[in-house]
This record gives sequence, structure tokens and C-alpha cells, in this order.
Amino acid sequence: MLIICEERGMTLITVPRGTYDIMPKQALAWQWLEKKIRQVFLSYGYGEIRTPIFEHTELFQRGIGATTDIVEKEMYTFTDKGGRSITLRPEGTAPVVRAYIEHKLYGQTPVTKLFYIGPMFRQERPQAGRFRQFHQFGVEMIGDASPVADAEVILLAHDLYHQLGLTDLEIHLNSVGCPHCRQEYKTALTAALKAAAAKLCTTCQLRLDRNPLRLLDCKNASCQEIISQVPPIQNYHCADCRHHFDQVVALLAEVDVKYKLSPKLVRGLDYYSRTVFEIINNELGAQNALCGGGRYDGLVEECGGPSVPGVGFASGIERVLTTLEQKGILADFPNHPQFYLLPLGEELTTIAFSLATQLRRAGYIVELGNGAKSLKSQLKTAHKSGAAFAVIIGEDEWQAREVTLKTMADGNQKRYSVDDLLAQLPQLVIALEKSASKEE
Ligand code: AMP
Repeated sequence: MLIICEERGMTLITVPRGTYDIMPKQALAWQWLEKKIRQVFLSYGYGEIRTPIFEHTELFQRGIGATTDIVEKEMYTFTDKGGRSITLRPEGTAPVVRAYIEHKLYGQTPVTKLFYIGPMFRQERPQAGRFRQFHQFGVEMIGDASPVADAEVILLAHDLYHQLGLTDLEIHLNSVGCPHCRQEYKTALTAALKAAAAKLCTTCQLRLDRNPLRLLDCKNASCQEIISQVPPIQNYHCADCRHHFDQVVALLAEVDVKYKLSPKLVRGLDYYSRTVFEIINNELGAQNALCGGGRYDGLVEECGGPSVPGVGFASGIERVLTTLEQKGILADFPNHPQFYLLPLGEELTTIAFSLATQLRRAGYIVELGNGAKSLKSQLKTAHKSGAAFAVIIGEDEWQAREVTLKTMADGNQKRYSVDDLLAQLPQLVIALEKSASKEE
């Protein structure tokens, strides 16, 4: 449905609910964050993959699980003009796994390490920190079943946040076992909960037979009370799962990564096996998870590939940016022009245009004034733009191929021949940046 609102007697089309525009100033913070993410992921040996924004619906039905909230309620699915069912990707793991299988990456190296950054789409109820189009960055390590892989992926998320300056986040850790021991737990859980079914919320009652593990993270107080009586999943772990988890925990301790054991953490997606984790910023309110991930040993096979294990995580860019802002870490990203060119008269516009082009081609950020406006008015605009220098091009000076360079911070000005100016610009800019950083 197109949302149209009336404003000042005009009809205005607004962004769809749960979406937003990233404006130029904010985009600088996004670019900064994306650059950091890429640097850290590359340093851990991950290669970037860019998959389509939409995929065949079946990929998500198989890859995420038919009984999950995402598949049951939240997917943007439509039939295209060729009659195919298409879905805007709600998460990044299934598409990466699809690409891994399609490009037969399993035949190239024993372990494949991929990362992605991009928009995801879920029709959830929008609220603070929860959008319908949001952005995730994530990694997938496919082909390594060892606990070292789990620990490395958790460490990677931890290190990335640390490098961003987020050093007081909580890592919540659990193991959901393998399909074998989890089935035993599910049976025991269902039996215990059925006895108290009447006291469960309606959502939990519906989930009881289809996906009982999901009851563990229900926020409803009376459900929590009942669930607290049920034995933890750890009691049902088989020897292999217990050993695997013990090693993950020991490896994290070895590199001094602090975590909290969270026996009720199961995560929303069906494909997890063994290790699951979330990284939390408790100051974010209800939507406090920055990152979620874990091991998904059955997923590649489920999606039609060979039986290879995998482990990964996904983190929300919006929540990371909000956290950085909240903690005062997100600097203001200045995007001022270095030079503001002021032609004093329309007949000097072509000269100013040509000089601006020369400077831009040399890599400087340049704004061009309007020659039809007075010197005073153009200087006012130059000040507003935050430019470091104004280059005034006047009729008389130009007769001698000279211009006036005005340093905006102190108002000092000096005449230069164009050739001298171009030759001296690098030193001038460096000197100005130095004095600006001293003032800070
Ligand atoms: P998930 O794919 O559900 O495991 O989510 C992984 C991370 O993506 C979460 O920890 C959030 O940071 C982020 N995320 C998930 N859903 C949303 C959403 N609707 N809006 C904003 N961020 C989200």
C-alpha cells in the first residue's frame, strides 16, 4: 500500500514503513564503518561475496526453516512475471551457502571463508532498532568442523567490535547440541511443557509441537516461569557435543574473551547446531542484540550441497552505529570543501570552472561560487560551506594570471600566480590541516 500523507495542502509520498533514507552526512559514517568492517574481515582471510538482493523463495524455506518467524511471517515474497516465487533476502547465510554450492567452492579449498555487507528485508513490526529494510555484515566459514572455527568466528566479531571502540559488550554463549541429542531434548521439553500448556501464551502453545526450542526465548513472564523448571539443554548433550563446547569455551578463555553462558539461548533459525552466540549491548533497550551467529553443520546439505559444516555470524549495521553514537565514539565526519572558488563577475566563470576542474582532477574537494553574486555574498556561502580556503578570482588579478588565496580560519590573504598556487597547494593544505589538528 502506498502511504501518502497530506502536508501543507500537498500530497507527499513518504518512505515505506520500517525503511529510511541515509542522508549524505550519515552516509559518511556508514562508509567509515563499512571500510573498517572490510579491513578486519580481510585481515582474518575472508573474501567478500555479493549475492543478489532476491533469491528463489525455496532457498529460504529450506535454508532458514519452515517453522521460523522469518519464513512464516516476515518474508517479502512475490511472484514475478515469469510465475516464479521470489523473496527479498531476509538474511545472508542461505544466499552465501547457495553461492558456495553453485560455484562448487567445496572443490577448491577445504575451508571457504566469505563475508558480506548489504541490505536485508523482513516484514517485522518496526520499532527502535528494528526495521523492515536493515543492513547486515557477516561472515561464513564453511568446511571446518573443529571448535577452533567456532572460537575464531566469535573472536572475529569480538575483535571487530573492539577495533571500533566497543569494549564492553556481552557475549552470550550456548550449545544447542547436534540433531541427535537435540531431538532427545526436544522430546523431554515438549513433554514437560505440555503438562503446563494451558498456562503458556498463545504463541508458545502454537510452537509447542512445531518448534519447542523457540519457547526457551519467549519473553512472557508466565512462560518464563514454566520454562525455568525445565532442565537445561546441557543435560542432554552427547559426549561429542559436550567435548566440542568445552573446547570452544577453553579457546575463548585462552585469548581472554569474556562470555556468559546462556542455557536458554537458542536463536530463531532452525539451522543451528552446537555453538550459538549473541553479542549484546544492554543499553540498547528491547532490541539489544548487535550480532548473532553459530554453527550450522546441516545447512549446506539441506540446500542441496555436500555434507560440509559451517559457522558464521551476522551483525546489524544500524544497531552498531547506534551503539557507537550512544557511546560517543562516532566522530563527526567533516566533509567540507578544501577550496571555494569565487569568480568576481560572470565573465570569470569559465576561468573559475576550468581552475576548479584542474583542482578536482588533482584530488582536491572544490566548490564553485556563482559569478553573478557579489564578493560578500559568495564569501558568506564559502564560510557556510566550511571551506578551508577561498580562491578569489578578480578581473584585475586575472590580467596577470593571479588569484587571491584567503585562509578562512584567520582571514589572511595572499596573491599567487596560478602556477605558483598549484605548485604550493600540497604544502598549504598540509600546513592548514596541521594547525587545525593542533586547535582540536
Ligand atoms: P539475525 O539474522 O536475526 O540473527 O540477526 C542478526 C543481527 O542482525 C541482529 O543481532 C541485529 O543486529 C540485526 N537485525 C536483525 N533483524 C533486524 C531488524 N529487523 N532491524 C535491524 N537490525 C536487525
